[in-house]
Amino acid sequence: MAADTKIEWCDHTFNPWIGCTKVSTAATCGGGCDGCYAEVSTPVRVLRARGIETWGPHAERHRTSPSNWAKPRRWNAQHEAFFAEHGRRQRVFCASLADWLDNAVDVELLVDLLGLIRITPDLDWLLLSKRIGNWRSRLEAAAEWLRERLTTAAEATVALLRWIERWLEGDAPANVWIGATVVNQAEADRDLPKLLWVPARVRFLSMEPLLGPVDLHLPWFSEPGTRYKPLLHWVIAGGESGPHARPMHPDWARSLRDQCQAVGVPFLFKQHGEWVSAGEPAFGTVEGKKVALIRPDGTMVDPLSDEGRDENADVATMSMVGKSAAGRLLDGRTWHQFPGEATHA
Ligand code: SF4
Repeated sequence: MAADTKIEWCDHTFNPWIGCTKVSTAATCGGGCDGCYAEVSTPVRVLRARGIETWGPHAERHRTSPSNWAKPRRWNAQHEAFFAEHGRRQRVFCASLADWLDNAVDVELLVDLLGLIRITPDLDWLLLSKRIGNWRSRLEAAAEWLRERLTTAAEATVALLRWIERWLEGDAPANVWIGATVVNQAEADRDLPKLLWVPARVRFLSMEPLLGPVDLHLPWFSEPGTRYKPLLHWVIAGGESGPHARPMHPDWARSLRDQCQAVGVPFLFKQHGEWVSAGEPAFGTVEGKKVALIRPDGTMVDPLSDEGRDENADVATMSMVGKSAAGRLLDGRTWHQFPGEATHA
């Protein structure tokens, strides 16, 4: 059974709805939304051409079709065949063209998504958000919406309400992985503690596009009195793609890899993005569209000037060779680790 997504770390993507608002911009503290591919993706442009705007705080999110909503049930029914072939459960990324904790989404739509997750227990749902701080308020809103309808409730409604209430009480669903997207130190400092408060079997960070160096701080990996018991179970990192992609200094990814390796947390390096640094196989063998010099703190050095170059020996020379040429080798190796796997090289 083949994966039906190009995303390296999942087998399927499921979009319950389409639409979002940029919440991580250079003007705030992140910049992760500045190059949002979803906003200019084909489904969003098709809707826009029909006069349906799904982007922005006041735009209505667009529920996807019934046939799309039927897919996770079908994948769930295929669990045994998938498991026999791959020796693991299917991973479903929800949602690539939206954010599941977006508070501009009708609560009813969120309730429907949670109901679908509940009745597909053989899928691992990877719920990734740039709004991880909304987790409790959104689930409480979903529970309240269901409670208001309990007088005419069907059995499934009661079961879903109990499922949400148990999660809010700390009993996490076994088929849900919770992730937060952070792109720099400021977002990590703000959102990682929030992520660690969400009850979850697996908690993960997606650090893509990685826009600066990040120290994850070891206490976030460990519980007091235990040795390396992970509170954070997985880190994904990668550079930015797209025509306006910003370069990722290779030391940022190396540092995350080393931090993860030191405490046995799986690390997945997704891609360099559009740029590679000197020393990578594509550098010098593939003609780049542009060259950039970047300091470890993310500031750029003018390539036409000598000013600032000698101040820092760690300035990386980057060439914009394109995403596929840049590839995903880091220091000559693919890092493709997942929770539950041995992580030490
Ligand atoms: S949260 Fe994700 S989908 Fe929404 S605007 Fe930002 S990058 Fe795009």
